[in-house]
Amino acid sequence: MLDSATTSPTIRGMFIGGAWVPAARTFDDLNPSDNSLYARIPDGSPADVRRAIEAAAAAFPAWAETPFHVRSHHMLKIADVWEKRAPDFVAAAVQEGGGWFGKGMFEAGYVSEVFRSAAAMCYHAIGEVLPSEHGKFSTATRWPLGVVSVISPWNMPGILTARGFATALAVGNTIVLKPSEDTPYSGGLFFAEVLEEAGIPAGVFNVVTCSRESVAAVGDEMIENPTVKAISFTGSTAVGRHIAAKAGAHLKKACVELGGKDSLIILEDADLEHAAKAANFGSFMHQGQVCMSTEKILVHEKVYAPFMQKFLARAAKLKTGHTNDKSNVIGPLVNTRQALRVKALIDDAVAQGATVELGGKCWDNFVEPTVLTNVTPSMNIWHDETFGPVVIVQAFRSEDEAIALNNDTEYGLTAAIMTADEPRALRMAGRLETGMVHVNCQNINDEPHVPFGGVKASGVGRYGGRWSLDAFTELRWITLDRGGRHFPPVF
Ligand code: NAD
Repeated sequence: MLDSATTSPTIRGMFIGGAWVPAARTFDDLNPSDNSLYARIPDGSPADVRRAIEAAAAAFPAWAETPFHVRSHHMLKIADVWEKRAPDFVAAAVQEGGGWFGKGMFEAGYVSEVFRSAAAMCYHAIGEVLPSEHGKFSTATRWPLGVVSVISPWNMPGILTARGFATALAVGNTIVLKPSEDTPYSGGLFFAEVLEEAGIPAGVFNVVTCSRESVAAVGDEMIENPTVKAISFTGSTAVGRHIAAKAGAHLKKACVELGGKDSLIILEDADLEHAAKAANFGSFMHQGQVCMSTEKILVHEKVYAPFMQKFLARAAKLKTGHTNDKSNVIGPLVNTRQALRVKALIDDAVAQGATVELGGKCWDNFVEPTVLTNVTPSMNIWHDETFGPVVIVQAFRSEDEAIALNNDTEYGLTAAIMTADEPRALRMAGRLETGMVHVNCQNINDEPHVPFGGVKASGVGRYGGRWSLDAFTELRWITLDRGGRHFPPVF
């Protein structure tokens, strides 16, 4: 809940078994626009996680047996409460997450659709009837797994937290959520407030918060505890690898959505006005802190000069500064560590001969929209996910070269192609090593019911619609014999 006097939230504790419980310690949650204190957050421990897992396990049988249409009504109620609380979410996403209010508004609107689409999944066909050699009634049926651990990132705390658990919850699993230490309220405790108000039964949804210092031990408990049946993770490739390896060692399902180094390809017949606008959004929306951000713009040499002129003119108009001022479309990076990392990537590139076409200034947690050219594969920024408002522009001569440049990364999340020639774009799409390709748009695209996910180091598994069913249910083959199965007479 938001205090009326201040915009800091009242933190009631962690949410375990339907009750608000304190932790032994707290940690400071900062507003990255000025590093002022936003809230003091419970610093949960592995013992707190165990309590949350026990509560989720106790709630599982009744939740799994709740009729599907009743679970669906619960999901719709969550969407309604979320919508009512949307202004509170926007305020939290702006102040705690450092996002422009327009990004917060977009997130708030999207999250209710995530819950409504999860409600629809309750009515989805959940099994198949198969032919049988023995005339049996043979079925493939889907069942909830049990307790699912959900670990979410800070960059889209509303959407990525909701996406991480909504379908899993709708199909009968119970949840233990650990939000990012950078957005523990907007990505965690705020959800607990909403689900409590929506009347979700106690223990079905639990939230444990913790600091960066505690996360290794807390995270291990969330994966290794034998009662946990699956892990839903969105975050960096380094942490995702660690989590997927641990989940694999324990033979648990893991859906991991990770980083990206995404390219926008502009062919010689593209509408350059549209391309410049789209590239500006794809590169700089939320300071480039989106897994699908456009990190490289690959432009056909014939249209390189006119594209750059239009693109730079647009990017130069973006204002950077404190999110209290709504005209600052570019807010701070989420914390000082990230700001220093992005600055180091720019400095390394410039020291090795990259040209700063626009921006390049960094102060406090802010980095101006920055456009770099003459970047080579020897520079860190060519390969590393920047996760900041920095984009590389590179010319190419042929379709083959554009495809090779796009694929020259360990990541494979999204690609985008601008062209008037749709058949050519579809041909190219098949050769781009990414989980998603968008023609005549930039890279940042998502809808609640599509198969969202990457290939290569960008992740394993898909979120969205029926693809989330694969991630958060198990299949059982169940047969009814009607006398058709004969055994050798010796038996
Ligand atoms: P991160 O990996 O640092 O943190 C993600 C989550 O993992 C946080 O909740 C964090 O507390 C937790 N975590 C950290 N160490 C852990 C450990 N040892 N065990 C268990 N949990 C641990 O990522 P971030 O900085 O929050 O988010 C940015 C990254 O997320 C970027 O790389 C971005 O590309 C990626 N991302 C991917 C997608 C996608 O859908 N593919 C979406 C958004 C962000």
